Amino acid sequence: MESASSVSKESGQALAEQLPPLTANATAVEADRCLYCYDAPCTHACPTHIDIPRFIKKIASQNLRGSAETIFASNLLGATCARVCPVQELCEGACVLGGDHKPISIGRLQRYAMDYAREHQSYPMVMVPPTGKSIAVVGAGPAGLSCAGELAKLGHAVTVIEKRSMPGGLSTYGIIALREPVDVAIEEARMIEGLGVEIKTGLEFGKDVTLAELQTKFDAVVISAGLGRTPALGIAGEEAIVDGLEFIEASKTGAENLKVGRNVIVIGAGNTAVDCATIAMRLGADRVTMVYRRTDREMSCYEHEYDFARKEGIEFRFLTQPARVILDGGIPVGLECLRVELGAPDASGRPAPVTVNGSEFVIAADQIVKAIGQEKPSLAKMLGLATMKGFIAVDGSFQTSLAGVYAIGDCVRATGAASTVMAVQDGKLAAAAIHQQFAQSAAPVEVN
Ligand SMILES: Cc1cc2nc3c(=O)[nH]c(=O)nc-3n(C[C@H](O)[C@H](O)[C@H](O)COP(=O)(O)OP(=O)(O)OC[C@H]3O[C@@H](n4cnc5c(N)ncnc54)[C@H](O)[C@@H]3O)c2cc1C
Ligand code: SF4
Repeated sequence: MESASSVSKESGQALAEQLPPLTANATAVEADRCLYCYDAPCTHACPTHIDIPRFIKKIASQNLRGSAETIFASNLLGATCARVCPVQELCEGACVLGGDHKPISIGRLQRYAMDYAREHQSYPMVMVPPTGKSIAVVGAGPAGLSCAGELAKLGHAVTVIEKRSMPGGLSTYGIIALREPVDVAIEEARMIEGLGVEIKTGLEFGKDVTLAELQTKFDAVVISAGLGRTPALGIAGEEAIVDGLEFIEASKTGAENLKVGRNVIVIGAGNTAVDCATIAMRLGADRVTMVYRRTDREMSCYEHEYDFARKEGIEFRFLTQPARVILDGGIPVGLECLRVELGAPDASGRPAPVTVNGSEFVIAADQIVKAIGQEKPSLAKMLGLATMKGFIAVDGSFQTSLAGVYAIGDCVRATGAASTVMAVQDGKLAAAAIHQQFAQSAAPVEVN
């Protein structure tokens, strides 16, 4: 019997960023295809409402610095978003050229401008005097960094508290390197520090520092702590199942220590599950099977991710409910499953999976990974905050049930798909709301 084996350093290359940067020529050709629409649908479809025709026009006229400025004006994390945004569903999906031709490669053009900004350190600056107000931000993921940067641009003093050793949140630890290498997220955090924001890593809110302490020192507190770990499946032998988030993290921050099986099962059918399956396939598994209790019509991953997974050679077993891990000497040798039939819609609005009695069967595997979402934010309960479907409840200004305490990003995303660009937009809008709160007598701040 063979257990999962470590990945060699060389095979870490298999996870190198998938899309190469566009060449100068390809960029010029692509920018020239843009129709520069008035009231452009792509700008409406971008959650941060970047003025896309404007930044593309600046690329076409060789004004890369101006192009980057246009992007940063709406989205401080444009380098991450250019790589991770599901553009097919957002800006590129709305491109009017998409009907008859290929839509403009907005994400890759944005990356070109952002790469230029990084290479020339052409980053936003603070152009206003200090206001004397200070804000603590809990969590250095996309939501927290966006909020911190926008608040700093408005003249406020911002301290970000991050429990991990590196900033960036899921951009650093969770999004596979094929889409976003770690150094892109770290550089973005450095850029936010360049605006005067202090990022304190290795400091856990609720353990090393309390809300009462932050409330004493700061004028406002923003919670942008994301979600929790992968929930339990509650099946026998679960201790031998690998946590999908830890699997991805290891692939980004220490691929040489990552153990990958020859015959891998991934439980789940969301984008994270596809990511785990892709890593296993790229890092040498002979066979990767995704197991899901509903059908391809109900799976939560994007359609383009499903297509990508199939092209990678990943197999799918639908209408299949894991029941128990079969172990030999503590090592998985298979996953016992039950056949499922779909019943009436459940609380999620999707047909309920109903297991068929006596339908047990075994899928052989030497490694089983679970990627079935993330636990709801634990801070909500710890702080006694009002919740909505288990997420932190906020009003239109991102204020929680505690005055002066705001929350943004995944920890408030009770409806709709969680994404980096939505977290960035939350951060931007919350910063404007906090600024407005501080300057009640001043004219309202306009954000698009
Ligand atoms: C595997 C995976 C892949 C994804 N891929 C994509 C993708 O390709 N495209 C896309 O748009 N979205 C993707 N997403 C979603 C996206 O990553 C999130 O929506 C986004 O990161 C949310 O940002 P956030 O700042 O709210 O939370 P997070 O990124 O989770 O950041 C929260 C931060 O808070 C810190 N923190 C938590 N608790 C504490 C505490 N008590 N004290 C101090 N710090 C704390 C955490 O360490 C973390 O750094 C993916 C998500 C996952 C799980
Ligand atoms: S931030 Fe994302 S959605 Fe918006 S224009 Fe850029 S790639 Fe498209």
